[in-house]
Amino acid sequence: MSLHTSLKVGGPADLFAIPEDVEDLKVLLSWLGEQNIPWLPIGRGYNLLVRDKGIRGAIISLERFNRISSVGGLVIKAEAGAENLAVVRFAQKTGLGGIGFISGIPGTIGGAIKMNAGAYGEGILERTDQLTLLRGGNIYDFRIEDLDYGYRHLKLQDGDIILAAQFKLDEREAHQTEEEIRKDSELRRSKHNVGYPSAGSFFKNPDGKVAWRLIDAAGMRGARVGGAQASEVHSNFLVNTGEASTQDFLDLAERIINAVFATSGVTLEEEVRIVGEI
Ligand SMILES: Cc1cc2nc3c(=O)[nH]c(=O)nc-3n(C[C@H](O)[C@H](O)[C@H](O)COP(=O)(O)OP(=O)(O)OC[C@H]3O[C@@H](n4cnc5c(N)ncnc54)[C@H](O)[C@@H]3O)c2cc1C
Repeated sequence: MSLHTSLKVGGPADLFAIPEDVEDLKVLLSWLGEQNIPWLPIGRGYNLLVRDKGIRGAIISLERFNRISSVGGLVIKAEAGAENLAVVRFAQKTGLGGIGFISGIPGTIGGAIKMNAGAYGEGILERTDQLTLLRGGNIYDFRIEDLDYGYRHLKLQDGDIILAAQFKLDEREAHQTEEEIRKDSELRRSKHNVGYPSAGSFFKNPDGKVAWRLIDAAGMRGARVGGAQASEVHSNFLVNTGEASTQDFLDLAERIINAVFATSGVTLEEEVRIVGEI
C-alpha cells in the first residue's frame, strides 16, 4: 500500500480491485461477500496510514468513477473518483463556483466527502446537496441534511460506498474562481511546502484550538522516530523523511499525543485514517 498512499508506508493488501462501473462494483462486492473477504473503499490514499502488516482483505479503488456533469441550474454532480481540482475546474467552465477551497486538497470527491475535507473554515459537506451511496447492494440518494456530519467527519453505515455527490453552487465568473485557485496554491506553497511525503494535517484541530500550536508548545516540532518526523515547516504534518515505517508514525504520534496532553491537557485525535492488520 506504500504505492497507493501519500505517506508511502504500509504493507500489502491481499487484493486491490479497480471496478469499471457500478455493475462491476456490485459483482465484485457480491463475490467478496460470498468469500467472506472484508474490503475498504479508497480514493487516492492522501489521508490513509496503512499498518506495516498490510490489509487482510480487499482495497477497492473508485478511480474509474470519475465523471462530472451538470445537473441543471446551480447544481453539478461528480462521481466519487473525480479529483477535487477537476470538479472545481468543471464548475468554473460552467460559470459556477463556491468550492474553490477544495482546489488544493489532494484526493477525490469520495475521500473529500467521507472526511468532510475543507480549508479556511469551510467543509465540502456544506456545499453538498445530495449523496449517492451503494448500501447493501442497492443505490440510494440521501439529502445531506438527513446525514450526521461535522468537522472532518461524516457518519455512514459500515459497508457504505459513496458513488457520487451533487454540489449546490453559486454563479461565479471564471476569473474569480481562477483567483481563488491561485491564492490557495500560493498559500499552500508557502505554508505547506514540507518537502517530504505526508498526509497533510495528521491531527484534527481540537475544539477552539489549533493542533500545530499545541504541538509547538509541547516542544515537538521536528521530533522524530525512525524516518517519521513532525515537520520543521508545519509541525502538524508528520512526514516520511525516506525510510519510515508505519510503526515509526504510530510511535511518533503517540509521543506527540502524550507530550501535548502533558503540556496543555488536550488529547489530540488523528485526522488520518489508520487501517490494516495490527
Ligand atoms: C499535502 C496535503 C495537503 C492536504 N490538505 C488538506 C486540507 O487542506 N484539508 C483537508 O481536509 N484535507 C487535506 N489533506 C488530506 C486529504 O487530502 C483529504 O483527506 C482528502 O479528502 C483525501 O482524499 P482521498 O481521495 O485521497 O481519500 P483516501 O485517503 O483514499 O480515503 C480517506 C477516507 O475516505 C474513505 N473513502 C474514500 N473514498 C470513499 C468512497 N467512495 N466511499 C466510502 N468511503 C470512501 C476511505 O475509506 C478513508 O477512510 C491533505 C493531504 C495532503 C497530502
